[in-house]
Amino acid sequence: MLDIHSHTLAIGAIYNLTIEELRLSPSCFNKQQWLSVGLHPWFLTEEWQKDFLHVRRWAMVPQVKAIGEAGLDRLSKSPCQHEAFLAHVELSEEIKKPLLIHCVKAVDEIIKIHRSMDPKQPWIFHGFRGKPQQAEQLLKEGFYLSFGEHFNLASVQICPADKLCMETDDSNLSIEEIEKRIRKVRQSELESFSKDLLFQ
Ligand SMILES: [Zn+2]
Repeated sequence: MLDIHSHTLAIGAIYNLTIEELRLSPSCFNKQQWLSVGLHPWFLTEEWQKDFLHVRRWAMVPQVKAIGEAGLDRLSKSPCQHEAFLAHVELSEEIKKPLLIHCVKAVDEIIKIHRSMDPKQPWIFHGFRGKPQQAEQLLKEGFYLSFGEHFNLASVQICPADKLCMETDDSNLSIEEIEKRIRKVRQSELESFSKDLLFQ
């Protein structure tokens, strides 16, 4: 199973660059390492556009497979969340790479933006822990859901295999262990969850 969002370097996982690492050159990373680049809402400042130049620079690199994590976090006081998120959406569309979304207490707003921008790229809700009603709402709008160590059982059960992603995020569990737990909940050993095609 592809680990679509990880904060630990591992071949076979999409490693999310830290804000410091965005300043590095791609040659600092193993060529086989898949990466995602974006400005996490927690680390936005009034000067976010300067940091975003690094995101843009990285976005073109072939081993970068997704833009993000980016999004809205209503528990964070960081400024410029809305405009920074829109910039990530535009970049994802421009370079044709999926968008990994960090969302805290802002689901309705993310859905509103999704409707108004009508993106062609997949939007993946990372670390989804919401209830099935919310999962259903997002699936109906065309989102993908990514589950990690902590998830709502019923939400995992109702998510179609072709919309279901998995991630380690900052968990100590392996992606194999997370996949095992998800398969157990779904009782479907033969289902194929591979998402490699999303990240070509
Ligand atoms: Zn994360």
